Amino acid sequence: MSAGSGARREVTIVGAGIVGISAAINLQRDGCKVTVVDRGPPGEGTSMGNAGVFASCGFVPVATPGFAWKAPGMLMDPLGPLSLRWSYMPRMIPWLVSFLRNSSPQAVERIADAMSALVGSSVEDHLALAAGTGAEQWVRPSPYLYVYADEAAFLAESYAWGLRRARGVKWATLRGDAVREFEPALGSDYRFAVVLERHGYTPDPLQLVTALAAHFVREGGTVLQREVKDIEIGADGPTRLLTDQGPVDIGRLVISAGAWSGRLAARLGSPVPLESERGYHVTLQEPGLMPRYPIMSTGGKFVATPMACGLRAAGIVEFGGLDAPAKPDMTLRLLKHVKNLFPGVSTEKYTEWMGHRPSLPDSLPVISRSPHFESVFFAFGHQHVGITAGPKTGRLVADMVAGRVPTIDISPFSVNRFQAARRPVADPAMA
Ligand SMILES: Cc1cc2nc3c(=O)[nH]c(=O)nc-3n(C[C@H](O)[C@H](O)[C@H](O)COP(=O)(O)OP(=O)(O)OC[C@H]3O[C@@H](n4cnc5c(N)ncnc54)[C@H](O)[C@@H]3O)c2cc1C
Repeated sequence: MSAGSGARREVTIVGAGIVGISAAINLQRDGCKVTVVDRGPPGEGTSMGNAGVFASCGFVPVATPGFAWKAPGMLMDPLGPLSLRWSYMPRMIPWLVSFLRNSSPQAVERIADAMSALVGSSVEDHLALAAGTGAEQWVRPSPYLYVYADEAAFLAESYAWGLRRARGVKWATLRGDAVREFEPALGSDYRFAVVLERHGYTPDPLQLVTALAAHFVREGGTVLQREVKDIEIGADGPTRLLTDQGPVDIGRLVISAGAWSGRLAARLGSPVPLESERGYHVTLQEPGLMPRYPIMSTGGKFVATPMACGLRAAGIVEFGGLDAPAKPDMTLRLLKHVKNLFPGVSTEKYTEWMGHRPSLPDSLPVISRSPHFESVFFAFGHQHVGITAGPKTGRLVADMVAGRVPTIDISPFSVNRFQAARRPVADPAMA
């Protein structure tokens, strides 16, 4: 079957995370016949264990000017937010060099411009995606709090807040006792807070994706639980996915396999420097208290979110690739931080998790048509804000497939930014 044949466009999506499922629903709403292929059930990749925040303010990259000087201190701090697996360092060096290069003021302004267009309307995007699907209950508009020890600590982050102000983010500030009056679960050490408007969260990211995927199937979509091992490429483009359970014919193809997208993109002639920023969570099952809204602890650099299944603390950036096991001491770091934030919390019963933020060194995702094949599209690399940006990305994928002008400028997300044109080559490692 050729990509362009038939009255109804056929689209196959690899990856059933928030990005793949959002794309699937948007394409289905456009009248496409859509199949999603994932090695596991929908939502069970990185999309399940995150902090669930719809972070419309989340367009400031981790690496801002001066980050290179702060990083060694963060790495040495046993409770710090940054960690490296030294055995993985040789593989990470080019990525890290590029990551640091992208911390210049000019690069950060450029990244913030592109990302604010992608994340700025996240709550509206989620409400629009969930409408009529049964997933509405998993989308909650709410304030989002950044808490600080004092105003001086807030002022030390003026650069990031200036970037946000310049791009229209609105907030109120709380001082002294007003912080605990607003959020009684917090410890008395927190004397300054920023309350962001137009934010929100999901009280269960896995349930959100699961409910969206169930709607997609009810509406006639197909979800295949298979692992994609390779892609068969004919003269006009990819023709079949070669999976662990046999081949799957494809028309148009969307790669949205999160942190695992790199090898598939390379197979399609578009190698990208995609790395995992490994992150961790603990979910306290009987915390004894619950904050009303998601809270960013700026000291601990983690987010505490009131989830349906308990109080979740999620954060930490660990560079160590996709294959290494989780480090138990990261769980202990999070438990110490959450106790600090909420002194009255009980940390006795908890579940723990580690996941892979799909990250490119310029902190921008790839949302792009392939330069080699008209029928191939990429949507991955949403680093810290994939839950936030999933619905908008899904809409952009549908726009690209339909040939519509996208609602935002997607040129900063082009896959071409990483390479000179290359034709696909056979990749023996794929087999
Ligand atoms: C600790 C932590 C906290 C976070 N907090 C937030 C937050 O508060 N807000 C926010 O917006 N973002 C947050 N994120 C980031 C967010 O979780 C990710 O950006 C997002 O989940 C990425 O979604 P995705 O659909 O691209 O990838 P995934 O959810 O990982 O989905 C990719 C899917 O592809 C499948 N796959 C991969 N390879 C293959 C293959 N070969 N064959 C078949 N299937 C394949 C996988 O099984 C997986 O299901 C956080 C991340 C972490 C780790």
